[in-house]
Amino acid sequence: MPTSPRRTRPSLIAILLGVLVVLALGMRAVRQGMVSTLAEGQGISGPHVYEFPIFGTYGRLSFWGPEDLAEETTDEVVERLQSIHDMSNLFADDSELSRLNATAREEPFVCSDRLWELLGECRRAHQETDGAFDISVGPLMKLWGFHRKRTTLPTEAEIEAARAAVGLENVLFGELTKTVLFRHPDTYLDLGGVVKGYALDQVAEIARKRGIRTGMIDLGGNIFCLNEPPPGKHAYNIGVRNPFDNDALLETVGITNCAVATSGNYEQFVEVEGKRIHHIIDPRTGYPAEDVAGVTVITPRGIDSDVFSTAIFVEGEKLVHHLRCTRRRTSVLRVLLETDGRESIRRYGWIWD
Ligand code: ADP
Ligand code: MG
Repeated sequence: MPTSPRRTRPSLIAILLGVLVVLALGMRAVRQGMVSTLAEGQGISGPHVYEFPIFGTYGRLSFWGPEDLAEETTDEVVERLQSIHDMSNLFADDSELSRLNATAREEPFVCSDRLWELLGECRRAHQETDGAFDISVGPLMKLWGFHRKRTTLPTEAEIEAARAAVGLENVLFGELTKTVLFRHPDTYLDLGGVVKGYALDQVAEIARKRGIRTGMIDLGGNIFCLNEPPPGKHAYNIGVRNPFDNDALLETVGITNCAVATSGNYEQFVEVEGKRIHHIIDPRTGYPAEDVAGVTVITPRGIDSDVFSTAIFVEGEKLVHHLRCTRRRTSVLRVLLETDGRESIRRYGWIWD
C-alpha cells in the first residue's frame, strides 16, 4: 500500500500478528537478517526468516529448504516487492502511480505492463463487488483526513463534490494502448486496498518457480502460505486477532496453499472532532464503513483476499453470499458492531474440506 505519513512507522497489528504467527510456528523472529534452523529430525532446513520494512509495514518471509536457495529467493522477492512499492506509492511524487495521478487528467498516461495488469484486476474487482471496491476512492480518503490532517468533519456538500470525482466510470482505459485518462479533474487512484494482496501472489510465484514448496509470506497481516506445511505440521497456523482486544486471538486457522487477509478498523483511523473515522470508505455513499470492526477472508489468491476483505467491509452480507456461491475454498469471518454497541461474530464457510 502507499506509504502515508501515518504509516511510515511499522504497524502494531503487523508486528503483533507476525509475532503470533511466529509463535504458532515455533520460529525465532529476526529483524533485517536471515536466521536459519534445521527442523528437528525432518531433514529439511528452515525456517529461514527474513524481515524488512515494506508498504509502510513489515514484511516477513519464512522459507524452508536449502539455505542458499532461500537466500537467493529472498533477494529476488525483496527486489520485486520494492519495485511494486515504488510503482504504487501514492506518497512519493516519482512513483508511477503518482505520475499517472498527476497527468491523466490532461493526457492519456501510458502504463507499464505491471501497473496495467494490476489495474485490470482492480477493474474486475470493481465489477464483481458492484462498485464497493473502487480504487478511485482517493478523493474521499483525502476529504476524510487520511492524506492531510483536518479538524472538522466534512460537510455533505463537500462529500457530494468529492463523490463526483470518485467512481471508475470517471476513468477511461485504453485497452490497446494501455492508457488511463481521467474524465474528472479531481479523480485519482489509490491502490492501498489491493497492492499487498497483489504482491503476495507475485512472491508466491517467485518462490514456487525457484522450487520452494514450504514457506509463508506475511506482508503486514496479509499472509500467503505455500503448498507444503512446515515439517512435522499439518498446516500453517494463522492467528486471527480479536479487533476488540489487541492481545487476544479470535481464531487460529490451519491452512496451506492459500491467502488470508484481514481488514480491521481498529488501527487505521483518524480522529476528527473527537470522532474516529475508519479507513475503508463506501465510494457510493461517500461515508466510512461504521458497523464493521473486522473482516477476514481466506481464499486461494492473495489479491482476492485483500480486495474482498476491503470490499466486504462496505458491501457486507450480499458480497459474502456471492463469494460463497462462486468461489471454492473461500471462507469469511466478519466482526460486526451491533447498534447497541455490542460486537457479534459471523463465520461463513469457515471450515471446508
Ligand atoms: P489495510 O491497508 O489496513 O491492510 P485494506 O486492505 O482494507 O486495509 O485497505 C484499506 C485501504 O484501501 C485504504 O487505506 C484506502 O487506501 C483503500 N480503500 C478504502 N476504501 C476503499 C474502497 N471502498 N475500495 C478500494 N480501496 C479502498
Ligand atoms: Mg484490502
